[in-house]
Amino acid sequence: MDEKLHLMSDEMSPRERFYASLEQNPVDRVSLASPTQTGIVDLMDLCGAAFPDAIREGEKMAKLAWAAHEYAGIESVRIQFTVLTEGEAMGAVLGKWKKKNQPVAEKPAVVTLEDIDRLKVPDPKRDGRMPEILKAARILAPRCEKEKLPLIATVITPLGLTLDAGVTDPMTSMLWFKREPEAVEKLMKIGYETGIVWAEALIDAGVDTIFLNGALDASITPDEYRDRVFPIHQRTVSKIKEMGAYVVYHCCMDARPVLPQLVNLGVHAISVSELVDMKEAREIAGDKVALCGNVDPTYTLIKEPPEKVKEAARYCIDAGTDVLCPGCGYGPKTPLENMKALVEAGREYGHNARLARK
Ligand SMILES: [Zn+2]
Repeated sequence: MDEKLHLMSDEMSPRERFYASLEQNPVDRVSLASPTQTGIVDLMDLCGAAFPDAIREGEKMAKLAWAAHEYAGIESVRIQFTVLTEGEAMGAVLGKWKKKNQPVAEKPAVVTLEDIDRLKVPDPKRDGRMPEILKAARILAPRCEKEKLPLIATVITPLGLTLDAGVTDPMTSMLWFKREPEAVEKLMKIGYETGIVWAEALIDAGVDTIFLNGALDASITPDEYRDRVFPIHQRTVSKIKEMGAYVVYHCCMDARPVLPQLVNLGVHAISVSELVDMKEAREIAGDKVALCGNVDPTYTLIKEPPEKVKEAARYCIDAGTDVLCPGCGYGPKTPLENMKALVEAGREYGHNARLARK
């Protein structure tokens, strides 16, 4: 069919299309929601809300998050621009606040094993930047309702909060994971409770989709994942689903060793890192879950011209993605034209997507 025809013939709203994709129901074309972060410098300049303020202040966060829809045509709004929200609320000290990069945890919340006993589940109404993020959600929820856009926010997995994410330093926590199983179990439990409390607050504020970020979750062995992580992650997922939200699970690594387990967690979708070939991810996932991804955000989206971005996007669509987006967060230095090229590719070619052919 003529491509121009498809450009004009959107039959579903962005929200209908995204939800249908997560439920693996037929769609008119591929979803162009972005479950990963969308704060790029070009958008900061256009909308007048930049890092680091847009990370710290709710109103500016809302402005920059909305800009990805307004200026690039991304069919969702995604808040939080870092993975350190819970870590900071639990006591981490963040530093290196810059416009072109996310801050880093200069001192994690947990440094010694004894710190674990002092660690508390944060209060989203009070701790760290959680209240500001909730403010952003409350500003954006009615606008998303009006424009029929999904509103997505991050919650870190229990293992994510155990291994990194500002709670611990990964060099130390990986050693603990092998040698201090009891301490790690305690940490995982606090991580679990934190995730539930945080997800609940976000959903109350109007978020409809939880991006469950297990950034380093593939850094343990499949046996360790099965015995020590899978049950608590499964519980996290089912609790969040009970609250009425969609759940998209993300891992930043080559998650192939644990992917056969991840597809059984009960999540609606897995956001696949660019380190995994989408075709292979689809083969492992079969039709158990929807997949999101996975154009390379560090090379293709930052360094290559728009035609190459479109080529990579078409590859992902043919390989079986259900939500066309990067394999991880957009790097702040991504040119706006490349963000737009990804959206254009989806509008032009997205009718070939797996669920559009159903
Ligand atoms: Zn990632």
